[in-house]
Amino acid sequence: MSQPLVARLLARHADARVDALAGPSTAAIYRHMPGIGRVHSVGFARGRLELARRIRLARELAARHYQAAYVLPNTWKSALIPFLARIPRRVGYVGEQRYGLLNDCRRLDAAALPRLVDRYAALADPVGASTPAANPILLAKPALESELHPLRRSELGVNPAPIVFCPGAEFGPAKRWPSTHFARLAAALATHDDPVILLGSAGERAIGMAIADAAPGLCRNLCGETTLDEALAIIAGARLVVTNDSGLMHVAAAYRVPLVAIFGSSSPRYTPPLSAQAQVLSLGLACGPCFQRVCPLGHTDCLNRLLPDQVLEAVQALRAERPL
Ligand code: SF4
Repeated sequence: MSQPLVARLLARHADARVDALAGPSTAAIYRHMPGIGRVHSVGFARGRLELARRIRLARELAARHYQAAYVLPNTWKSALIPFLARIPRRVGYVGEQRYGLLNDCRRLDAAALPRLVDRYAALADPVGASTPAANPILLAKPALESELHPLRRSELGVNPAPIVFCPGAEFGPAKRWPSTHFARLAAALATHDDPVILLGSAGERAIGMAIADAAPGLCRNLCGETTLDEALAIIAGARLVVTNDSGLMHVAAAYRVPLVAIFGSSSPRYTPPLSAQAQVLSLGLACGPCFQRVCPLGHTDCLNRLLPDQVLEAVQALRAERPL
């Protein structure tokens, strides 16, 4: 989501260097992003201030004499470190009333910029400039040999060009297509010799197990079994990815892998996959997008009523464009 911002900054300031400060999983993505120099990976416990650690980190950043900081999350805490590091220009949206912490504080015109990627990219432009739509991004392909050594590939049981499902979504169940639906899709797409690879975090292992149990022999559950770099390498080599609206969806889009993206409580108008090779599925119910982690109506119809046959149709549409 932030790569078009990086590209636009480098286009405006040809001799600039852009570094990234991010949590561990996002930092792993930044290491593959064209235009990014140093990556500072730092994790803070959710909901904790950890002020002493933030001050220590700010001191380290101050020693690097950064000229500007672009603060992408809307939280007060995320703006604190650039402020403590005395970075002269601190740019971001007002968010949690961050006047003072930011000194180039933008008001968001959500109607003019419905997509998150455009909101980020607009921060590179002067206030009031008309911002062109951000271009689709392309991540640097991981070197498959180094990120996923052939021995490791065979240990994991991954074909060179597998079908991959990403059935998790850290945000919450209102963004996770049901395991039973994923299992029915696996039954339609996989064979025992060519099983679907299930990718996700350790916290999503149980989701992968539920799918694998419901489609015996047709799935290899690698949720929690790979490093993030290995997961990126597997996605980059995949022939098809079926995914919830999640970080891995954007990874598949950035590698231009043919993909079907399934949206529940969130909106494809806000965070669409940035790829011409993506089929986007959203029922567009009157109650959505509600952007809730758990369905406030208790039925999650936006996902339960989106049936495997509809996803299969989307796969067929991709197949009509190229063999998968
Ligand atoms: S309220 Fe509607 S859009 Fe939101 S989770 Fe429930 S079914 Fe989905």
